Amino acid sequence: MIRGSCCCGGVRFELAAPPTMMGTCHCSRCRKAGASNLVFVKRETFRWVAGRELVETFYPDPPFTLARQFCRRCGTALGEPFATEGAGFPLNAHCLDDDPIVRNRFHEWVSAKPAWYEICDGARQFAEDPVKAPATA
Ligand SMILES: [Zn+2]
Ligand SMILES: [Zn+2]
Repeated sequence: MIRGSCCCGGVRFELAAPPTMMGTCHCSRCRKAGASNLVFVKRETFRWVAGRELVETFYPDPPFTLARQFCRRCGTALGEPFATEGAGFPLNAHCLDDDPIVRNRFHEWVSAKPAWYEICDGARQFAEDPVKAPATA
């Protein structure tokens, strides 16, 4: 069991299995939300333990589209646990209290990375969205 929670401890969840992978997004949205390191979890492995009623959604103005969840009491970014499309969703890896077993597999939106952030692992790098653009390193 892999546990996760927000800063105030009001929101708690569990993963019955390790995430399918981990990735790092350097886009301004993920950086400002404080959720650059993401794990991807299958919906059936995710369970709320407490505080689902504390979870609020931020809907950005266009052209941005990703609705992101956070704890309304402490502000911790949770990722997108309310996402309903697809087999799973990304969660903020920093919310995990246990080792998720998986390690970072890629960097995306490296073109938007701030100059002061140095990539120190050998994971593949993509200038933008890996689904649309080939790897650059
Ligand atoms: Zn909280
Ligand atoms: Zn991003």
